Amino acid sequence: MRRHEPAATDEPRPYAGRSAVLATMHRKEDAIAPALNTTLGLVVVPASGLDTDQLGTFSGEIARQGTMLEVAVRKARLGMQGAGLPLGLASEGSFGPHPAIPFFAAGMELLVFVDDERGIVVSESLIADATNFGRLVVAPGDALDPFLERVGFPSHALIVRANEGSVTAALAKGITDRESLARAIATAAAASSDRRARLETDMRAHLNPTRMKSLAALADRLARRLATPCPACAAPGFGRTGSRVGLTCEACGTPTEMVLAEEYGCSACGCREERPRSDGLIRAPAQYCPECNP
Ligand SMILES: [Zn+2]
Ligand SMILES: [Zn+2]
Repeated sequence: MRRHEPAATDEPRPYAGRSAVLATMHRKEDAIAPALNTTLGLVVVPASGLDTDQLGTFSGEIARQGTMLEVAVRKARLGMQGAGLPLGLASEGSFGPHPAIPFFAAGMELLVFVDDERGIVVSESLIADATNFGRLVVAPGDALDPFLERVGFPSHALIVRANEGSVTAALAKGITDRESLARAIATAAAASSDRRARLETDMRAHLNPTRMKSLAALADRLARRLATPCPACAAPGFGRTGSRVGLTCEACGTPTEMVLAEEYGCSACGCREERPRSDGLIRAPAQYCPECNP
C-alpha cells in the first residue's frame, strides 16, 4: 500500500459482518471470498440458481451486450435481486491478443462491488499477462502435445468445435481428459466443411486455475480499495481511477507518452485528486521523447 493512502486499520471496517452476494455459476467465490473477508470482514455468498450465461458466454453462443463494467453491474444486480441483498459482486473477463505486446495473449479481468445502501459502484480491473488463452485448428490425428502443454491441459479445460460453420456446431465444453478430447475432435472435424476441429481454452473460472489466481489478486485490490475511505466524504472505495500522460523529456522538455500523474477518485461524492507518480520519476528519459528519439 502506498504511504499516502490511509491504512485500512485506521478506519472502522464498514462492511465487517455484512454479506454480499457474488453472481457466479463458476465457483469464483473460492478465489474472491478470502481477500474480501480478511481485509473487510465481508462475507461473500455465492448466488444460487443464477443463470449468468444469459448475459453472455465465452464460447460465443450468447454475445455480451455492453462494456465489461455494464455487464458486471447487471450481473451483480441479478444476484442481489435473487438473494434480496443490498450488496453484490460480479466479475467479467475478456481474453485475446495483448493490448501492448503483439502475438502475446492477455486477459482483462474486472471485479465490481455494488452497494445499494450507499449508492456506490466500485470496481477494479487488471491485465493478466499470465493467461493460458489460446486456440489451435487441427485435423483428427494431428500432434497436440505442445499446445496441450502450453495451455495447461488437463488442469485447464478445453473447448472443441467445428472449425467452420456456426459457433455451436459440434460444440463441446469443459473437456479435461484425452479420451473426451479425441472424441470431440473427431465429431467436430466431421461436422466441419474443411474436416478440421478448432480447440480453444475454456476460460470459465472453475475450469481455469490460472484465471482463479488472477481473480484472487483482483479481489485483493478491490478489498484494499474498499478499505480506503474517501478523504472528502469518507465513503468506502477511494482509489486510482486512471492516469494522465505527458511526463516531460529530461533533455528538451517535450511531453512524452509516459505517465505524468495518477488520478484518484471517489465513486460516492465524485471528488478527484491527482497525485505524482508513485515511483517519484519527474522527467522522462530522452529515449521515450518523440523529439529526441523519434
Ligand atoms: Zn526530448
Ligand atoms: Zn467521496
